[in-house]
Amino acid sequence: MSINTLEKLFILLCSLPQAQVRTNWHGGEPLLAGKDFFSHVLRLQNQFQQKVWLNAIQTNAILVDDEWADFFHNNHFSVGVSVDGSERTHNINRINVAGRGTYKKVMCGVETLRRHNVFPGVICTVTKKTVKCAKEMFMSLVNSGFKDISFNVFYNTASNCEEDIYGLTNQEWLLFLIEIFEAWLALDDPTVRVRELDGALAWTETKSANYCSFKGLCHRWFAVNYTGDIYPCERLGKTILFGNVESLETFQNLEDNPVLLSWKESIGRLPEKCIACDLQSLCYNGCVAHRKLEGGKFSLYTYCESRRAFFDYITQRLGGKEV
Ligand code: SF4
Ligand code: SF4
Repeated sequence: MSINTLEKLFILLCSLPQAQVRTNWHGGEPLLAGKDFFSHVLRLQNQFQQKVWLNAIQTNAILVDDEWADFFHNNHFSVGVSVDGSERTHNINRINVAGRGTYKKVMCGVETLRRHNVFPGVICTVTKKTVKCAKEMFMSLVNSGFKDISFNVFYNTASNCEEDIYGLTNQEWLLFLIEIFEAWLALDDPTVRVRELDGALAWTETKSANYCSFKGLCHRWFAVNYTGDIYPCERLGKTILFGNVESLETFQNLEDNPVLLSWKESIGRLPEKCIACDLQSLCYNGCVAHRKLEGGKFSLYTYCESRRAFFDYITQRLGGKEV
């Protein structure tokens, strides 16, 4: 992203109605943008002091050195790294251009962060090739010191999950969640937090999990790419364009955009199955990027069945006990 586009973006962010603005710096690999880029981000944030700026960054940690780690620590960045479980499971999918697994380099970056008192959370992507290794992945993340763990189900929006070589079926995802839940219970360590379990445990108190794909909050996120084009969440790809930071002067102009209004309306419409579902207020038809057309009319959450079954499993397993 050019400095000019970045500055336009901050003018737009300043016009948001809320006092607190959270930016998640994603790539590809966002550290490739370089230290000068992020120093300029901070200069802009200092310039616009009417907002409280929160920065989060999701990195593969390979480029993390002492200087980056210091930068994140001194500027209160919340750091997430991408580690797919154990060295064995990580290296199945995450290889470098020479075809070699990247686990050792990633964990070297993680250690550098920790030496500088930056304790990253982890996002672990689960694919068809790793879905049967739930306990191995979870325990390896715990044993390598992660306390804040999220699992991303791999779903290719462009293909049918039953046929995709990486995508998971409902049954695979359900069994994975159950195995993680049992491993987490057996671990009995309240300092270890798993996003997917927090979500499910909130249900048992009839609360909605604090995460967009449980709350119908997709419209609260925008993705801005390096050209300044604005889209919904990056999981949805680049098929729905709301505008560009160059042409939009205020957030209100973005909010009034007919493409955004019609998209918001379409994602809020629930299929009949959800309207009749007792989990509706705890689920909201799941992640918008993981929906597919049901009867040619409304899009239903692809992992509806596993979400429903996991809810039933947890409810029975706990039998009203608090965790
Ligand atoms: S596409 Fe999914 S992950 Fe992205 S904001 Fe929407 S609900 Fe959340
Ligand atoms: S569990 Fe299934 S039917 Fe119920 S609200 Fe979620 S997606 Fe809809």
